[in-house]
Amino acid sequence: MNRLLRPPKINQMLFFSHLFLVLTLIVGMSYSRYQSEWHTRVDNAATMAKHTLLPLVTDISQSISGRAYNSLLLPNMRNNLLAIDSLIYLDIQGISDYSEMPMQVRYYRPNQLIWRADVSLEEIVSAEQEMIRLQILHQQVDTDDAVKRDKMFYLLQKAIADHQSILNSHNLENTFHAPWAEPAISRDEIHLDAQTKTMHIVMPLQNQKGGRLWAVFDSTSLFTLKQQVWRHVLGEAAIALAISTLLIFWVTRWIVAPLRRLAVFMDQDLEKIELSELPEQNREDEIGMLASRFGNLVSNIKVQLNILKKQSDTDALTGLGSRYRYTNIAENYMAETLAAKKCFGLLVCDIDNFKAYNDLYGHAKGDEALSSVAAAMTSSLGTTDFAFRIGGEEFVVLLQAYQPSDIYTTAERIRHTLLAQRIQHPGNPQAGVLSLSIGAIAVERKSRSGNALRLSEVFEQADSLLYKAKAEGRNQVVFLQHNYK
Ligand code: GH3
Ligand code: MG
Ligand code: MG
Repeated sequence: MNRLLRPPKINQMLFFSHLFLVLTLIVGMSYSRYQSEWHTRVDNAATMAKHTLLPLVTDISQSISGRAYNSLLLPNMRNNLLAIDSLIYLDIQGISDYSEMPMQVRYYRPNQLIWRADVSLEEIVSAEQEMIRLQILHQQVDTDDAVKRDKMFYLLQKAIADHQSILNSHNLENTFHAPWAEPAISRDEIHLDAQTKTMHIVMPLQNQKGGRLWAVFDSTSLFTLKQQVWRHVLGEAAIALAISTLLIFWVTRWIVAPLRRLAVFMDQDLEKIELSELPEQNREDEIGMLASRFGNLVSNIKVQLNILKKQSDTDALTGLGSRYRYTNIAENYMAETLAAKKCFGLLVCDIDNFKAYNDLYGHAKGDEALSSVAAAMTSSLGTTDFAFRIGGEEFVVLLQAYQPSDIYTTAERIRHTLLAQRIQHPGNPQAGVLSLSIGAIAVERKSRSGNALRLSEVFEQADSLLYKAKAEGRNQVVFLQHNYK
C-alpha cells in the first residue's frame, strides 16, 4: 500500500494533533499580543503628537481668523515648528473670520521654511504695483520733510519686503512636491503610512469660519518598534513552540513506548512470561490498567494450562499416567536411568479375557475392574516407578532398579496383588479371578560406547513378551534381561 495512504501511528497522531493545537494557540495568542502592543504604541504616539500640536492650533487659529500671514510666517513660528523634531510637514488651510478669504500656509522641515501656498498672480501684480507706486511717491516726496520722508521710506521698504515674500512663497509653492497625498481621514483621526514611515494627523482649527491642520510626523521609530514587537512576539512563540515540542515528544514517549514494550512482552511464549518483569502494571493510568488486565489474563491462562496439562497427563478413569504423559517422559526416563548406571525396567501389562468380563458384568463393572488393576499397580511400585494406562485395558510400567531381578520381582508383585483382590472372573478359566499377563524386560548398560538403545525397540520386545505370556496360558510374567554394549 502507498506509504501516504497508511493510517498514521498513535505517536504520529498524537504528535501532529498536539503540534497543530499548540501552533494554533501560539499563533492566535501571539497575534493578539502583537495587535494590542502595536495599538498601544500607536495610540501613545498619536496622543503625544496631538499634545504637541494643540498649543500651535490655538496660535494658528488666531492668525487664520485675522488673515494675519505675518504672524504665521514669522521666524518665531518657524522656530517653534523646528523645535518639534518629529514634525516633518504642516499644511494649514482655513477661512479668515475677518475677510472670509481662504488661506493656505505650508511648513516643510527639510527646507526649514514656512510659506504661503495661496499666492495668486493678481496678488503678485498688485504687490508689484504697490511697490512701484511707493517708489514714485518716495522719489516725489519733499526732501526737507524728514518725518514724511522716513515714513515713505519705511512704507517702501515694507512693500519691497512684502513683494519679495509673496514672490518667494510663489516660487516655493511652484517647485514644492509633497511626498504624500492628503489621507482621506476625518478630523482628529490618524493615518499611518508604512511606505514613508510617517504618521498623519488632521486637526480642526478653532476659528469661526473653520479650517484644518494636516500634520505629518516622522514615525520611523514607531515602525522600528513594530519590528521589535514582531521579533519579540516571534521569539516568545519560538520558545513556546520548542518547549511544547519537547513536551509533546515526552507525552508521545510516555504513552507509545510502554505500549510497544507491552506488545513485545505479549509476543513472548506464554510459559516464559514473567509478570514481575512488567513494570507497566504499576502505572495508575489506562496503560497500567491494560498491563494489569494482561497480567491477570496471563495468570488465568497459566492456571488453565496447568489444569489442562494435568488432565492430559492423567488417565481420568484410573488416575494413572496417560498415554500422552508416557510418550512425553519415557524416552528421557530410560536415558536418565541408564546414565545413572541403574537398571531400567519396562512392563507391558494386559488384563486377561477382559472382553468376557465386560460381557458378563457390563461396562461399568469393567471400569471398576480397571481401577482395581491401577490400585494393584500403584501399591506395588516404588517412588521412582511410574504406571500408565496406554490403551483400553493395557498398561505400561517404567521402573528403576539396582538389579534386573528386581524388575521381575516387581512385575510378579503387581500380578499377585491383583490376584489377591480375588475379583471374580468366570470368563478367565485359568485363574477364575481377574488376572494380568505381563511382558517384562530389564535393560542394563554395560559400557558407555556404542549406539543408544531406543525406547521403541524395548517396548516392542516387551510387547512380544506379553504376547508370549498370553500364548503360554495368561496370568503370568514373561521376563527377559537385555544387555547392550
Ligand atoms: P486377552 O486375554 O487376549 O487380552 O483377551 P481380551 O478379551 O482382554 O482382549 P480383547 O482385546 O479382545 O478385549 C479387550 C476388551 O477390553 C474389549 C473391551 O470390552 C474392553 N475394554 C477396553 N477399554 C475399556 C474401558 O475403557 N472400559 C471397559 N469397561 N472395558 C474396556
Ligand atoms: Mg488387550
Ligand atoms: Mg486383554
